[in-house]
Amino acid sequence: MMSNVNEIHKKTILIATQNEHKKREILDILKNIPGVLFKNVEDFPFLPFVEENGSTFEENAIKKATTLAKVCNTWVLADDSGLEIDALNGRPGIFSSRYAGPNATDEENIGKVLSELKGVPKEKRTARFVCSIALASPYELLLVVEGYCEGYIAEEPRGNKGFGYDPIFYVLQYHQTFGELHSSIKNTISHRAEALKKLKERIIPFIRII
Ligand code: IMP
Repeated sequence: MMSNVNEIHKKTILIATQNEHKKREILDILKNIPGVLFKNVEDFPFLPFVEENGSTFEENAIKKATTLAKVCNTWVLADDSGLEIDALNGRPGIFSSRYAGPNATDEENIGKVLSELKGVPKEKRTARFVCSIALASPYELLLVVEGYCEGYIAEEPRGNKGFGYDPIFYVLQYHQTFGELHSSIKNTISHRAEALKKLKERIIPFIRII
């Protein structure tokens, strides 16, 4: 990526996700932070794989951000997120992306959740999305924030917007699933939006504009 004079004076932050949807949501919410130049994983072709083997979203986000910040010698923002369903004792939780198996598709993960919830009445289908975001410099962990979004698991998928479990995550306030809601609404009420709002409030003192 070419740098111009304005970019040289900005703090570079790598958004450490391979998930295009997550990246777009993060950039959409953080786009007007002054003094920051965001980079993608494509800008760092030799990124190591960081195993997400923590027991919480927070542990995984911290491990990813701190490890990659050291390796890449730049600030790194890492997100770990997932869906907690009360009737399934919090599953799929930190295993959300691979609930139906190591290379499961979104449809397979949704299928597994819906079959496990067969016969569970609406009032017991409560769930929440959780998102932990860590920001690290090459030397230290700078910030960790968490966001939540409460909802219900629908009886069947609805809508084709978003990603992951969006088509079965029903938001009472809008009577629609995240799969039906426009991204501009998802990006104001989602777990990721809540975490990033907290990050935005706390990041400014760390960024020194030259
Ligand atoms: P991660 O990449 O390990 O953080 O996996 C997160 C997984 O949780 C994704 O693959 C999705 O299945 C699910 N997930 C997290 N955030 C969202 C969201 O905003 N919408 C739908 N699914 C999500």
